[in-house]
Amino acid sequence: KYDLVVIGAGPGGYVGAIRAAQLGMKVACIDENPQLGGTCLRVGCIPSKALLDSSEKLHAAKKEFESHGIGLGGVSLTLDVMMERKRKIVDQLTKGVGFLFKKNKIKRFEGRGRIVAPGKVAVEGKDEAQIEASKILIATGSAPATIPGVELDGDRIGSSTEALSYPRVPEHLIVIGAGVIGLELGSVWSRLGSKVTVVEYLDRILPEMDADVAKQAHRLFKRQGLDIKLKSKVLGARVEGEKCTVELEGAAPLTADRVLVAVGRKPYTEGLGLEDVGIKVNEKGRVIVSESYETSVGGIYAIGDVIGGAMLAHKASDEGVACVEKMTGGLGHMNYDAVPSIVYTEPEVACVGKTEEQLKKAEIPYRKGSFSFKANGRALAMGHADGVVKILAHEETDRILGAHICGPRAGDLIAEVA
Ligand code: NAD
Repeated sequence: KYDLVVIGAGPGGYVGAIRAAQLGMKVACIDENPQLGGTCLRVGCIPSKALLDSSEKLHAAKKEFESHGIGLGGVSLTLDVMMERKRKIVDQLTKGVGFLFKKNKIKRFEGRGRIVAPGKVAVEGKDEAQIEASKILIATGSAPATIPGVELDGDRIGSSTEALSYPRVPEHLIVIGAGVIGLELGSVWSRLGSKVTVVEYLDRILPEMDADVAKQAHRLFKRQGLDIKLKSKVLGARVEGEKCTVELEGAAPLTADRVLVAVGRKPYTEGLGLEDVGIKVNEKGRVIVSESYETSVGGIYAIGDVIGGAMLAHKASDEGVACVEKMTGGLGHMNYDAVPSIVYTEPEVACVGKTEEQLKKAEIPYRKGSFSFKANGRALAMGHADGVVKILAHEETDRILGAHICGPRAGDLIAEVA
């Protein structure tokens, strides 16, 4: 019998489990994957950042070094080495979670967790078991969404998981969706040599970001060679021999070697037993929770991508900590106005707080200031002087309500504002 059983060992679940153990709870954590760390560590943030960094270095060696007076001769790509480096980073981090579990005496179960009743979870798979626990924490995250007519075949038409491990650089890659995943992984393959076409349904890229900053980013991505087609509705995609065809509404079909479907993610609750125990979800299937992250069933909690809000690893981790601190009578606290979000393209796009569109909609009086990196000495010295910083502050109090940056190391700068 445990004090807490956590279902899911991603950044929400593993951090929550560790914090709970530090607070004196007897904790078990279930994950169906042999590698701990969830989507983020295995097939998300970490491997994508590894490839973003590698491909950026290739790009810099090819296109930027010369202007610094550095000549390298022929620069070449060995994709296998780049992929092996990525694999090693993932391996190190996922093993690190296992080490932290041992250190904090968290019992790990490998298998799928299914809630049988409040206080009872069945593990199906390698470590089959019936677990009893006073409290249950759902941290099962999300899975790639798809659109009607597009069948993921797990190879040529795939999600971000496949796009992190293409065996060869595709000649032509079509990305469906100009959101975070589409632009990050589209940038990776473009830098590695693919022709990349991004097909976006809306009239803009990065729909969650401030429109001014997204527009600036769009201009820069276009200049880098990404062919971004806005207002393009995908009707279907299929594999035909060695090629894929993507059908568009009102335009000629496109063909390419591979298709990356990056149209968002959906909460991952299949087979979890939510209906059996009466846990309520919203119209998008996301688990409804109270301020203390308790679901509609007492003693069962949920955090991370499976509940509402931004699908971000660090948001899930912080919710994990706040949730278990509240369980143990502590003052778990989460400030949703200070959760930064970063798109790791080059330049990076980062934001925290409200966008100008959100402030207008909420009728909050604000003032704005923006400044271009073109006149910033540090940016010029780095040779990355494209981009802008935009800050929104309350008209009367001057309190910062939002900051939006497209530019060099925006992901580092945003922490200052957060
Ligand atoms: P997203 O919501 O960021 O973008 C999806 C895009 O697809 C949107 O622009 C949407 O308009 C478009 N789209 C939807 N249906 C379409 C259609 N039929 N045809 C063409 N375009 C269509 O989703 P994502 O990029 O898949 O990312 C999923 C989640 O993962 C996001 O919540 C994101 O925050 C998270 N993520 C974060 C990071 C990061 O923080 N750096 C990196 C990767 C993913």
